[in-house]
Amino acid sequence: MAYKISDECISCGACAGECPVEAISEGDSKYEINADACLDCGSCAEVCPVGAPVAE
Ligand code: SF4
Ligand code: SF4
Repeated sequence: MAYKISDECISCGACAGECPVEAISEGDSKYEINADACLDCGSCAEVCPVGAPVAE
């Protein structure tokens, strides 16, 4: 299990600073989560203004 950032992402960057394992980075068109590092904690989803991070 890991979180994934949907196309709803507006690249605000709020989630990246909340991730305890620095699994979130800025991609070409949106932010992206490194599924191998993600701990499934949900912190990114809590701070996202548009609900883009979703549990897979
Ligand atoms: Fe990081 Fe937690 Fe979001 Fe996974 S669910 S990307 S560990 S903040
Ligand atoms: Fe994208 Fe939400 Fe992260 Fe902002 S907080 S970069 S909108 S996923």
